[in-house]
This record gives sequence, structure tokens and C-alpha cells, in this order.
Amino acid sequence: MRDERLSVYLHVPFCAGKCGYCSFYSTPPVRGEVEDYLDALEAEIRYWRSRLGAPSLRTLYVGGGTPSLLPPRTWSRLISLIEGLGNCDALEEATVEANPSSLNDGHLELWSSSFFTRVSLGVQSLDDAELRCLGRRHDAALALCAMRRVLRFGLSLSADLIFGVPGQTLRTWAASLSGVRKAGARHISTYQLTLEPDTPMGRRMPVLPDGYPFYRYVQWYLPRLGLLQYEISSFASPGDECRHNLAYWRQENVLALGPAAWGYLDGRRYENPRTLDAYLEAARRGFPDPLEGGELLRQRSRAVEAAILALRTRWGIDRTDFSARWGEGLLHEVEGLLAELPPHLLRDDGRSVSLSPAGMRVGNAVWSELLRLTED
Ligand code: SF4
Repeated sequence: MRDERLSVYLHVPFCAGKCGYCSFYSTPPVRGEVEDYLDALEAEIRYWRSRLGAPSLRTLYVGGGTPSLLPPRTWSRLISLIEGLGNCDALEEATVEANPSSLNDGHLELWSSSFFTRVSLGVQSLDDAELRCLGRRHDAALALCAMRRVLRFGLSLSADLIFGVPGQTLRTWAASLSGVRKAGARHISTYQLTLEPDTPMGRRMPVLPDGYPFYRYVQWYLPRLGLLQYEISSFASPGDECRHNLAYWRQENVLALGPAAWGYLDGRRYENPRTLDAYLEAARRGFPDPLEGGELLRQRSRAVEAAILALRTRWGIDRTDFSARWGEGLLHEVEGLLAELPPHLLRDDGRSVSLSPAGMRVGNAVWSELLRLTED
């Protein structure tokens, strides 16, 4: 592997119920399933440990689903399993996702006394009408209480917020943003609500407000609250950027554990079995090479992907690094396409080229242009 230290994404597939907008795979835990999941995870970790040796972990992200749905005694076992994968002593960051409706002091006690450094809380909104509309299982008061508790245990707090919710206004959006910031979040991820037709909200087909003014607003407002935009959807105070996500954006190796988890190892993108049943079946068969069905990107596609991922971030494409890794020819091709864009979409200090805030607002159109380079 190119990097000796490894980032790990571990997926917990359980949720208490389905939020109205959610199209991710998750399942309510029925009797015995959590134990089956942990047994399979133990087998998967054994598999990777024998294949990779005992890697030193750089970043860890436990996402879901709802990791905080697992009770603290189950979490004790989960932490031991993670420690069994490799060396956790040099972890730069370890994040766990939590839902205000299930997070309790037992979790926080355990996480803060182990290697976890950070909690990513699914706040989504601090407006009760919006939370009801989204089908969340908590109200604003519970979310605020959860944020205070995370900080009380000395963990760093990140909050997810959604914009483009039916009935949402710039006033309620501003109140959610300032509310989570005042509550102590040093990192905020913002997502535009999109609805798949097979979700409860999607079936009702509500009219969604235009997301553009909300995105413009967050780009203007959060920097005034001390959180700088460092990626299309992410804002942080300096030094509080999510290192695990940076591993994805820099195409570093990320090992996937658990059902429906995505990984990236040595240029191969792969996905674990998508459902709990399929994952348990893979465990019964001894995890036949998880990378087998993955997608090995051609060198040129990897280079274009590297350019797109770099442009998602405020650091952009470092010309020296890019040409050292992918060759000067490809750098010139990327620069040639970027030169066709209106200049106000870009920032260029000579050493690197990145998207301006205006460029980030039309990121999808920029990616489409760059993807032309992968066409034969
Ligand atoms: S808690 Fe998260 S993963 Fe679970 S249903 Fe809601 S949005 Fe989906």
C-alpha cells in the first residue's frame, strides 16, 4: 500500500426507524442481529489483519446508520474489535456519528476514555417544524442538550445540517447555523435535501425550496462565525477540518468495514455487501476477496478523479504534487480545461489552483467539464 498508515471507515447499519428523506441502507435491530453483526465484524477484522499485518491506524470514522443506537456495553466490544485490527495509538482523529435521540452519557464516557476524539451529531435543524417534516426522532431541545453533553466530555463536536427543507426560510436556516455554532460546534457539514422516489418523503413529492440561496447564505454566514469553508459541504474553524474526509479527497487508502461500507485501497474502489444479510453471508463464506468486485480505476481516470477531489477542497490542485504524481501532460490538460471557465470561478496563486466560493456553487458543472478528459 502507498500509505503505511491506514484510514478506516466502519459502518453500523442499524437505525431505530427511517427518517423521511433517507435512502441509505439501514435496518432496525431485531433480536440477535447486533450480536450476529459484531461476530461478522470480528471475522472481517481478523481477515484484514491477516492480510495487512497489524496496520497503524491514521484516522477512524464510525458511521451509520446510527452508531449511538448500540448500547454502551455493545460499544465496549466494538472498541475492543477495532483495537484488534491494528495499532490505535497514533490515531490522528477518531470520529463517531451519533443521533441526539439515542446518545447518552454512557456512550460519551466510553468514547472519551478510549481513542475517540470527535462526535459528528446529526442535528439537521434547530427548528422543530423542520425536524418533524424530515421525520427525525428528536426535537431542537434534545439536539442542543446532546451538543452540550458532547462538549462536557471533552470531545470535539461536528454537526450536520440540512437545507432546502419544505417550509424552511433563510431566517430559520440562520437560526440553525448560529444555534449549533453557539452550542460549540467547531465543524459543520451542510447538505441540500434531495429526495429519492422510494423514500417516505419522496413518495409524497413535496415542493422543495430552491437550495441556491441557502448555500450562498451559508458560504457568507459561517465564515463570519469563524468557520471557514474548506470543502464544498464542510466548514470548520482552522485546525478542526475532518482529517478522515481529507483521506478520501486525497485518494489515500481507506479500509471499509461493515455492511454497505465503501473503501479505497491502492487505486481500487470497492463496496462491502450492501445489506446486513448479504454481509452475514459473506462472513459465513470467510469474506471471499472483498476487493475482487471492486473497480480498478485506469491511471487517467484516477488522475482526473484526483483533480476533482482536490478542487472540492479549498487547497485545490497543487501543481507540483499533481505533476509529480500524474505527469506534466495531464496537469496541462486539466489546466487547459480550467482556463475555459469564467475566471471568477477560480483562485490561482501560481502554486495551486482552487475553486472560489462562486466556483464551489457550480462545482457539479466543473466536474462535468473535467470528466471530459476521461473520454477516449
Ligand atoms: S438516522 Fe441517518 S441513516 Fe438512519 S434513517 Fe435517519 S438519516 Fe438515515
